[in-house]
Amino acid sequence: MDNFNDAFPDIPQRISGLKELAYNLWWSWHPEARMLFKMLSRAAWKLSVHNPVKMLNDVSRETFETAAKDPKFLRHYDAVMARFRSDMSPSGDWFSSRIADARLLPIAYFSAEYGLHHSLPFYAGGLGFLSGDFLKECSDLGVPIVAMGFMYPEGYLRQKISPDGWQSAESERIDRENAPITRILDSDGNRLTVKVPFIEPPIYVEVWKVQVGKVTLYLMDTDIDANDPWNRNITSHLYVGGYEQRLRQEIVLGIGGAEVLSTLGIKHSVLHLNEGHPAFAVLERIREKVGTGLSFEEAFEKVRATTIFTTHTPVPAGHDVFPFELIEKYFTSYWPSLGICCDAFFNLGVDPKFPNAGFNMTAFALKASAYHNAVSKKHSEVAKKMWQPLWPDLSEESVPIAHITNGVHVPTWIEPRTELLYNRYLGPYWLADHDNPDIWNLVDDIPDRELWNNHYWHKMKLILQIMNRARQRWLEAPEPRVILASGVLLDPNVLTIGFARRFTTYKRAALIFHDAERLRKILTNRWNPVQIIFAGKAHPADEPGRQMLQKVFNASKDPYFGGRIAFVEDYDEQLAQYLVHGVDVWLNNPLPPLEACGTSGMKASLNGVPHLSILDGWWSEGFNGKNGWAVDSHEGDNGDFLDAQSLYDILETQVVPIYYRTDDYGVPHDWVRVMKEAIKSTAPVFSARRMTKEYAAHFYSEALKSVSGETRPAI
Ligand SMILES: *Cc1c(COP(=O)(O)O)cnc(C)c1O
Repeated sequence: MDNFNDAFPDIPQRISGLKELAYNLWWSWHPEARMLFKMLSRAAWKLSVHNPVKMLNDVSRETFETAAKDPKFLRHYDAVMARFRSDMSPSGDWFSSRIADARLLPIAYFSAEYGLHHSLPFYAGGLGFLSGDFLKECSDLGVPIVAMGFMYPEGYLRQKISPDGWQSAESERIDRENAPITRILDSDGNRLTVKVPFIEPPIYVEVWKVQVGKVTLYLMDTDIDANDPWNRNITSHLYVGGYEQRLRQEIVLGIGGAEVLSTLGIKHSVLHLNEGHPAFAVLERIREKVGTGLSFEEAFEKVRATTIFTTHTPVPAGHDVFPFELIEKYFTSYWPSLGICCDAFFNLGVDPKFPNAGFNMTAFALKASAYHNAVSKKHSEVAKKMWQPLWPDLSEESVPIAHITNGVHVPTWIEPRTELLYNRYLGPYWLADHDNPDIWNLVDDIPDRELWNNHYWHKMKLILQIMNRARQRWLEAPEPRVILASGVLLDPNVLTIGFARRFTTYKRAALIFHDAERLRKILTNRWNPVQIIFAGKAHPADEPGRQMLQKVFNASKDPYFGGRIAFVEDYDEQLAQYLVHGVDVWLNNPLPPLEACGTSGMKASLNGVPHLSILDGWWSEGFNGKNGWAVDSHEGDNGDFLDAQSLYDILETQVVPIYYRTDDYGVPHDWVRVMKEAIKSTAPVFSARRMTKEYAAHFYSEALKSVSGETRPAI
């Protein structure tokens, strides 16, 4: 059903592998593959903003023909394709040698967001990057998984900030022809259209796929002619507003997603729900079993034993609760197929703490899964407390919500030049074995000056990127103060703090402005100045989030702070890459205990950018006294004030002095020591590899034991 063979008709046979490579995101975490596209045409690579599908559509036939005769290009092409073919072959990977036969029926993974690459804007924040990084790691480790999600034709939002600091959200339609996605066709070669079961009037989805190395991600799209407008809008963008539309979105994700898998003939043995949004998928598994003659209770137990659920946030708005009337409206015809009635169904979603509140997707997912986890040690303590009423016989500590701390996909987030530097000192095999902490002790062998110069190069690259964006913005809308605020005054020799994440209130982006005068002194110190780069989007419906953003933006254009604050518009995967490689220190000051994990600090640390953070989420596990700094947090009404004081104290007495204490060549050795500690302590542990191995060893292998040894049909 792959139709990329018809794409790019101008590519000569000799280099036709480029077609498959462009449509497999494998290229995105293999620098040698990115280099291959760049060799083909530097200009087209740049103009496409590093999107090979768009680039191959733009390149002329002559360019392809020249490349197909260029011995240097061909050598490189052959080497990349050999590596690609070998990585795609199913044999000898970690999962099949250590966990289970990889030919067993796959694990189905459902998530509302995937952050894979900036050309696929199907993410709002951390949840998306977690699932995107997870799929990449599953490919690397050979975990047999098939993923389901949405194609959001309008993506999330393109952020544009007005001169008075107000975020307007322009939607940016994704260009399906130029994205690395392929349409799924039926056996007659027509667009595959699947009807979501039990919904009247009917909702149809068309299906796309993204190849992520060995892993296939299917994406459903309701924005199609077969649907009436209300239904077309279901997958138009992330997290649509209004209870009813949100419920319909989750019905399509869970029930529609399961139907798509079954239409494609893809059976699965285990189901992994990433967050509560897709939890209705469980119902389809139960319905299937009830259809074979099991009672509801028997079917429920069987399904439960093979379902995994990961909860991602303690923030109440992150847990959908739907009014029972709405559930009744959409599920009345569904219940008979499960062999239960209305009350029994409602009970599945009751949170015992608030029994009348409605159908709680997290409570449902917890009840319907035998394996569940929070995403950091601290978050599991919080989640146990939140959900203890579901286990009335158990004490809080013994509530069975495990923790598997999030991690980031190292090949994706390590900067290629830093990767080369590590190759030199950690040996050529470090990347293949990067969750082995022993390898990382060799970081101490990197000469300080070399590590520092490498970092400085990335800082320059970041600042040049920001200036390019500013120039672009100037062309689009010449608003001088917006341009000045966007980073054109940045100085590469000044200590640079990075703060970039979703602008949602608990993340407290404006905390550092609590005492403006003290901050101004720190920023504008004549000998040891400091600058801060902010970026991030607020959810369009989050008024307080947009106000917080306005406050930060207005500070960035206020001369009071001496031009030492920048706000860079439109935070996305690409800007995140530049920031986590190029700033000097990564700041995070959420309101505890609301940051379940946080992952951007891991991305930074791994590249030698130390973390300056409140002890919450992963930092409660990650901080070891030497690898960054921990800001004290204080409870009570005065909490923000005291937290801000603690932040200023650390900046004034530790961060700034250490940074500016350099030798005669400008190398700050004490700072470099912190950088090295950050790399050593983060890279092996807070990696998607460690995380994925934990999911496989603790959950998948156990769940797989309770399914009979059904294997996939041989291909
Ligand atoms: C990693 C990442 C996030 C998540 O960062 P947190 O620290 O968990 O808030 C959000 N957005 C982008 C673009 C990212 O790369």
